[in-house]
Amino acid sequence: TERTLVLIKPDGVERSLVGDIISRIERKGLTLVALELKTASDEVARGHYAEHADKPFFPSLLEFITSGPLVAAVLEGPRAIAAFRQIAGGTDPVEKAVPGTIRGDLALNTQYNLVHGSDSPESAEREIAIWFPELAG
Ligand code: ATP
Repeated sequence: TERTLVLIKPDGVERSLVGDIISRIERKGLTLVALELKTASDEVARGHYAEHADKPFFPSLLEFITSGPLVAAVLEGPRAIAAFRQIAGGTDPVEKAVPGTIRGDLALNTQYNLVHGSDSPESAEREIAIWFPELAG
């Protein structure tokens, strides 16, 4: 079994899509082991997206991710990392995410793409330590 860190980004909370997205996670069969409404500080946002610090969209991404409440969650299950990324769809909600996925069904814009999911076991461990230090280790 595996754990992954998922965010329902501020656009998902703003658009009242939290229930829909959590329902998709539950229907997939993934188990929620932590779930909390949080507002990211600048420090948490920079830590979470550290790998993108040099990208042109980084300032805009930081502003967006700290703009309001988001839902942070830890999911568990067999191949949880890949399973969540499958139901999320590709980063670009139009060019990459296919219908049936969270982004393919519900998003239009690459920045405002509703969700984040860890992309590797190492990322998951690092991100869980940022958002849920009490679960780390
Ligand atoms: P996440 O890491 O959030 O799951 P991802 O792995 O699909 O998304 P990354 O390439 O890691 O995508 O980019 C992180 C986030 O930065 C994206 O989810 C999106 O919100 C934003 N982003 C990525 N590319 C762009 C872009 N070209 N313009 C604006 N925002 C972008």
